[in-house]
Amino acid sequence: MGRKFENRCVYCLKEFPKKEITVDHVIARSWYPSDTPPVEKWKAPSCRECNGKKSAIEETLRVRIALCLNPENEGEKTIIDSVFRAIDPKKANSAKDFMHRFNKRTALLRHIKTFPDKNAPGILPSFRENFDKGSRTGVQVPADALEQLVLSWVRGIHLCEIGNYIEDDTEIESYHVSDEAAHEAFKDILQHAQFVEKGPGIRLFFWHAVEGEEYMTNYAFILYEKFKVYASVSKSVKRARTKADDNNRKNCGELGKRSPRQDLSHL
Ligand SMILES: [Zn+2]
Repeated sequence: MGRKFENRCVYCLKEFPKKEITVDHVIARSWYPSDTPPVEKWKAPSCRECNGKKSAIEETLRVRIALCLNPENEGEKTIIDSVFRAIDPKKANSAKDFMHRFNKRTALLRHIKTFPDKNAPGILPSFRENFDKGSRTGVQVPADALEQLVLSWVRGIHLCEIGNYIEDDTEIESYHVSDEAAHEAFKDILQHAQFVEKGPGIRLFFWHAVEGEEYMTNYAFILYEKFKVYASVSKSVKRARTKADDNNRKNCGELGKRSPRQDLSHL
Protein backbone atom coordinates (compact mmCIF):
# COMPACT_ATOMS: atom_id res chain seq x y z
CA MET A 1 0.00 0.00 0.00
CA GLY A 2 1.42 3.37 -1.00
CA ARG A 3 2.64 5.72 1.64
CA LYS A 4 0.25 8.50 0.73
CA PHE A 5 -2.68 6.11 1.31
CA GLU A 6 -1.77 5.26 4.85
CA ASN A 7 -4.13 7.57 6.66
CA ARG A 8 -7.14 7.35 4.41
CA CYS A 9 -9.85 4.74 4.86
CA VAL A 10 -10.46 2.88 1.62
CA TYR A 11 -14.14 2.40 2.45
CA CYS A 12 -15.41 5.78 3.72
CA LEU A 13 -12.59 7.78 2.03
CA LYS A 14 -12.01 9.92 5.11
CA GLU A 15 -8.58 10.68 6.48
CA PHE A 16 -7.72 9.73 10.05
CA PRO A 17 -4.78 10.10 12.39
CA LYS A 18 -2.48 7.16 11.76
CA LYS A 19 -3.26 5.46 15.08
CA GLU A 20 -6.94 5.22 14.13
CA ILE A 21 -6.25 3.44 10.85
CA THR A 22 -6.22 -0.35 10.81
CA VAL A 23 -4.97 -2.77 8.18
CA ASP A 24 -8.00 -4.60 6.87
CA HIS A 25 -7.88 -7.91 5.03
CA VAL A 26 -10.08 -7.01 2.07
CA ILE A 27 -11.28 -10.60 1.83
CA ALA A 28 -11.29 -11.72 5.45
CA ARG A 29 -8.66 -14.24 6.49
CA SER A 30 -11.42 -16.57 7.71
CA TRP A 31 -12.72 -16.79 4.12
CA TYR A 32 -9.54 -18.39 2.78
CA PRO A 33 -9.61 -22.20 2.71
CA SER A 34 -6.92 -23.94 4.76
CA ASP A 35 -5.15 -25.22 1.64
CA THR A 36 -4.37 -21.65 0.55
CA PRO A 37 -0.63 -21.38 -0.06
CA PRO A 38 1.24 -18.52 1.62
CA VAL A 39 0.10 -15.84 -0.84
CA GLU A 40 0.06 -12.15 -0.16
CA LYS A 41 -3.51 -11.34 0.77
CA TRP A 42 -5.20 -8.10 -0.24
CA LYS A 43 -4.92 -5.54 2.55
CA ALA A 44 -6.12 -1.97 2.68
CA PRO A 45 -6.24 0.89 5.19
CA SER A 46 -9.53 1.10 7.03
CA CYS A 47 -10.85 3.23 9.86
CA ARG A 48 -11.98 1.31 12.93
CA GLU A 49 -15.65 2.00 12.31
CA CYS A 50 -15.63 0.70 8.72
CA ASN A 51 -13.50 -2.27 9.75
CA GLY A 52 -15.95 -3.17 12.52
CA LYS A 53 -19.02 -2.87 10.28
CA LYS A 54 -17.36 -4.90 7.56
CA SER A 55 -16.33 -7.65 10.01
CA ALA A 56 -19.94 -8.05 11.15
CA ILE A 57 -21.13 -8.41 7.55
CA GLU A 58 -18.31 -10.81 6.73
CA GLU A 59 -19.31 -13.07 9.59
CA THR A 60 -23.03 -13.00 8.75
CA LEU A 61 -22.27 -14.03 5.19
CA ARG A 62 -19.46 -16.47 6.00
CA VAL A 63 -21.81 -18.50 8.20
CA ARG A 64 -24.32 -18.74 5.36
CA ILE A 65 -21.91 -19.33 2.51
CA ALA A 66 -20.14 -22.05 4.52
CA LEU A 67 -23.35 -24.10 4.30
CA CYS A 68 -22.93 -24.14 0.52
CA LEU A 69 -19.34 -25.38 0.56
CA ASN A 70 -18.14 -28.88 -0.16
CA PRO A 71 -17.21 -30.84 3.00
CA GLU A 72 -15.27 -33.31 0.85
CA ASN A 73 -12.86 -30.58 -0.11
CA GLU A 74 -10.26 -30.43 2.69
CA GLY A 75 -9.64 -26.68 2.37
CA GLU A 76 -13.33 -25.78 2.38
CA LYS A 77 -14.07 -28.21 5.20
CA THR A 78 -12.02 -26.09 7.57
CA ILE A 79 -14.31 -23.14 6.87
CA ILE A 80 -17.39 -25.29 7.44
CA ASP A 81 -15.94 -26.71 10.70
CA SER A 82 -15.02 -23.25 11.93
CA VAL A 83 -18.56 -21.99 11.25
CA PHE A 84 -20.13 -24.96 13.03
CA ARG A 85 -17.93 -24.25 16.04
CA ALA A 86 -18.89 -20.58 15.95
CA ILE A 87 -22.60 -21.40 16.16
CA ASP A 88 -22.28 -24.18 18.73
CA PRO A 89 -23.42 -22.97 22.18
CA LYS A 90 -21.68 -25.97 23.77
CA LYS A 91 -18.34 -24.46 22.77
CA ALA A 92 -19.08 -21.26 24.74
CA ASN A 93 -16.73 -20.12 27.47
CA SER A 94 -19.12 -17.71 29.19
CA ALA A 95 -22.83 -17.03 29.49
CA LYS A 96 -22.52 -14.11 27.14
CA ASP A 97 -20.63 -16.22 24.60
CA PHE A 98 -23.33 -18.90 24.93
CA MET A 99 -26.05 -16.42 24.00
CA HIS A 100 -24.00 -15.04 21.17
CA ARG A 101 -23.52 -18.49 19.60
CA PHE A 102 -27.12 -19.48 20.32
CA ASN A 103 -28.49 -16.35 18.64
CA LYS A 104 -26.20 -16.80 15.68
CA ARG A 105 -27.41 -20.35 15.21
CA THR A 106 -31.08 -19.40 15.61
CA ALA A 107 -30.73 -16.63 13.02
CA LEU A 108 -29.07 -19.02 10.63
CA LEU A 109 -31.69 -21.76 11.04
CA ARG A 110 -34.40 -19.20 10.40
CA HIS A 111 -32.85 -18.52 7.01
CA ILE A 112 -32.67 -22.10 5.83
CA LYS A 113 -35.56 -22.71 3.47
CA THR A 114 -36.86 -25.16 0.96
CA PHE A 115 -37.08 -23.67 -2.49
CA PRO A 116 -39.64 -25.06 -4.95
CA ASP A 117 -37.60 -24.52 -8.10
CA LYS A 118 -34.37 -23.06 -9.29
CA ASN A 119 -35.99 -19.98 -10.76
CA ALA A 120 -37.47 -18.90 -7.43
CA PRO A 121 -36.64 -15.25 -6.81
CA GLY A 122 -33.42 -14.52 -4.99
CA ILE A 123 -31.49 -17.64 -5.84
CA LEU A 124 -27.98 -16.73 -6.87
CA PRO A 125 -27.48 -17.86 -10.45
CA SER A 126 -24.25 -19.67 -9.70
CA PHE A 127 -26.04 -21.93 -7.21
CA ARG A 128 -28.92 -22.90 -9.50
CA GLU A 129 -27.06 -25.90 -10.83
CA ASN A 130 -27.46 -27.48 -7.38
CA PHE A 131 -31.16 -27.92 -8.19
CA ASP A 132 -30.24 -30.06 -11.17
CA LYS A 133 -28.35 -32.26 -8.74
CA GLY A 134 -31.45 -32.68 -6.59
CA SER A 135 -30.98 -30.05 -3.91
CA ARG A 136 -34.05 -28.15 -2.76
CA THR A 137 -32.63 -26.60 0.39
CA GLY A 138 -31.03 -23.20 0.43
CA VAL A 139 -29.94 -20.56 2.84
CA GLN A 140 -31.12 -16.99 2.48
CA VAL A 141 -28.39 -14.41 2.27
CA PRO A 142 -29.29 -10.78 3.04
CA ALA A 143 -28.96 -9.05 -0.35
CA ASP A 144 -27.92 -5.66 1.03
CA ALA A 145 -25.17 -7.22 3.16
CA LEU A 146 -23.89 -9.19 0.21
CA GLU A 147 -23.84 -6.11 -1.97
CA GLN A 148 -22.06 -4.05 0.68
CA LEU A 149 -19.43 -6.72 1.11
CA VAL A 150 -18.77 -7.10 -2.61
CA LEU A 151 -18.48 -3.33 -2.98
CA SER A 152 -15.98 -3.32 -0.10
CA TRP A 153 -13.94 -5.99 -1.87
CA VAL A 154 -13.96 -3.88 -5.01
CA ARG A 155 -12.85 -0.76 -3.12
CA GLY A 156 -10.02 -2.59 -1.38
CA ILE A 157 -8.85 -4.60 -4.37
CA HIS A 158 -9.03 -1.58 -6.67
CA LEU A 159 -6.57 0.13 -4.35
CA CYS A 160 -4.31 -2.94 -4.15
CA GLU A 161 -4.34 -3.87 -7.84
CA ILE A 162 -4.89 -0.57 -9.63
CA GLY A 163 -3.51 1.84 -7.03
CA ASN A 164 -6.58 4.08 -6.82
CA TYR A 165 -9.19 4.90 -4.26
CA ILE A 166 -12.68 4.80 -5.76
CA GLU A 167 -13.79 8.37 -5.35
CA ASP A 168 -17.32 9.69 -4.97
CA ASP A 169 -17.54 10.64 -8.66
CA THR A 170 -17.28 6.98 -9.59
CA GLU A 171 -20.09 4.45 -9.69
CA ILE A 172 -19.68 0.92 -8.40
CA GLU A 173 -22.23 -1.79 -8.80
CA SER A 174 -22.31 -5.50 -8.19
CA TYR A 175 -24.40 -7.96 -10.12
CA HIS A 176 -25.15 -11.66 -10.40
CA VAL A 177 -25.56 -13.44 -13.66
CA SER A 178 -25.77 -17.07 -14.70
CA ASP A 179 -22.65 -18.86 -15.90
CA GLU A 180 -24.09 -19.06 -19.41
CA ALA A 181 -24.86 -15.34 -19.52
CA ALA A 182 -21.42 -14.49 -18.11
CA HIS A 183 -19.70 -16.76 -20.60
CA GLU A 184 -21.64 -15.23 -23.47
CA ALA A 185 -21.07 -11.64 -22.31
CA PHE A 186 -17.42 -11.95 -21.36
CA LYS A 187 -15.97 -14.69 -23.55
CA ASP A 188 -14.23 -12.27 -25.90
CA ILE A 189 -13.18 -9.91 -23.14
CA LEU A 190 -11.83 -12.29 -20.53
CA GLN A 191 -8.90 -13.36 -22.65
CA HIS A 192 -7.62 -9.80 -22.13
CA ALA A 193 -8.32 -9.87 -18.40
CA GLN A 194 -5.77 -9.98 -15.65
CA PHE A 195 -6.08 -12.99 -13.43
CA VAL A 196 -5.20 -13.08 -9.74
CA GLU A 197 -5.35 -16.30 -7.81
CA LYS A 198 -5.11 -16.33 -4.03
CA GLY A 199 -4.99 -20.08 -3.70
CA PRO A 200 -7.62 -22.54 -4.89
CA GLY A 201 -10.50 -20.84 -3.09
CA ILE A 202 -10.26 -17.22 -4.16
CA ARG A 203 -9.76 -16.12 -7.72
CA LEU A 204 -10.32 -12.85 -9.48
CA PHE A 205 -10.44 -11.60 -13.04
CA PHE A 206 -10.40 -7.91 -13.80
CA TRP A 207 -10.31 -6.01 -17.04
CA HIS A 208 -10.73 -2.50 -18.32
CA ALA A 209 -13.13 -1.34 -20.99
CA VAL A 210 -14.41 1.87 -22.49
CA GLU A 211 -18.13 1.87 -23.19
CA GLY A 212 -19.52 5.04 -24.69
CA GLU A 213 -18.66 7.83 -22.31
CA GLU A 214 -17.70 5.49 -19.52
CA TYR A 215 -14.33 4.11 -18.58
CA MET A 216 -14.92 0.88 -16.68
CA THR A 217 -12.96 -1.58 -14.63
CA ASN A 218 -14.81 -4.86 -14.28
CA TYR A 219 -14.29 -7.52 -11.68
CA ALA A 220 -15.29 -11.19 -11.66
CA PHE A 221 -14.88 -12.91 -8.30
CA ILE A 222 -14.89 -16.69 -8.13
CA LEU A 223 -14.89 -18.10 -4.63
CA TYR A 224 -14.67 -21.79 -3.91
CA GLU A 225 -15.37 -22.46 -7.62
CA LYS A 226 -19.07 -21.94 -7.10
CA PHE A 227 -19.77 -18.53 -5.67
CA LYS A 228 -19.43 -16.04 -8.49
CA VAL A 229 -20.17 -12.36 -8.41
CA TYR A 230 -19.39 -9.51 -10.77
CA ALA A 231 -18.84 -5.81 -10.24
CA SER A 232 -18.08 -2.79 -12.32
CA VAL A 233 -16.46 0.52 -11.48
CA SER A 234 -17.33 3.20 -13.98
CA LYS A 235 -16.30 6.76 -14.41
CA SER A 236 -17.03 9.29 -17.12
CA VAL A 237 -14.08 9.52 -19.51
CA LYS A 238 -14.62 13.27 -19.60
CA ARG A 239 -13.80 13.69 -15.93
CA ALA A 240 -10.30 14.45 -14.82
CA ARG A 241 -8.28 11.28 -14.60
CA THR A 242 -5.45 10.29 -12.35
CA LYS A 243 -2.16 9.03 -13.65
CA ALA A 244 -3.11 5.47 -12.70
CA ASP A 245 -6.32 5.79 -14.74
CA ASP A 246 -4.27 6.89 -17.72
CA ASN A 247 -1.95 3.94 -17.33
CA ASN A 248 -4.91 1.61 -17.16
CA ARG A 249 -6.46 3.13 -20.24
CA LYS A 250 -3.22 2.56 -22.03
CA ASN A 251 -3.20 -1.02 -20.79
CA CYS A 252 -6.68 -1.60 -22.24
CA GLY A 253 -5.19 -2.06 -25.65
CA GLU A 254 -2.11 -3.89 -24.46
CA LEU A 255 -3.55 -6.49 -22.17
CA GLY A 256 -4.20 -8.91 -25.01
CA LYS A 257 -0.51 -8.99 -25.74
CA ARG A 258 0.62 -8.98 -22.14
CA SER A 259 -1.69 -11.48 -20.48
CA PRO A 260 -1.64 -15.19 -21.11
CA ARG A 261 -4.95 -16.55 -22.31
CA GLN A 262 -6.95 -17.94 -19.42
CA ASP A 263 -8.89 -21.12 -19.26
CA LEU A 264 -12.45 -19.86 -19.21
CA SER A 265 -14.18 -23.20 -19.05
CA HIS A 266 -15.21 -22.59 -15.46
CA LEU A 267 -16.96 -19.31 -16.23
ZN1 LIG B 1 -13.86 4.33 7.13
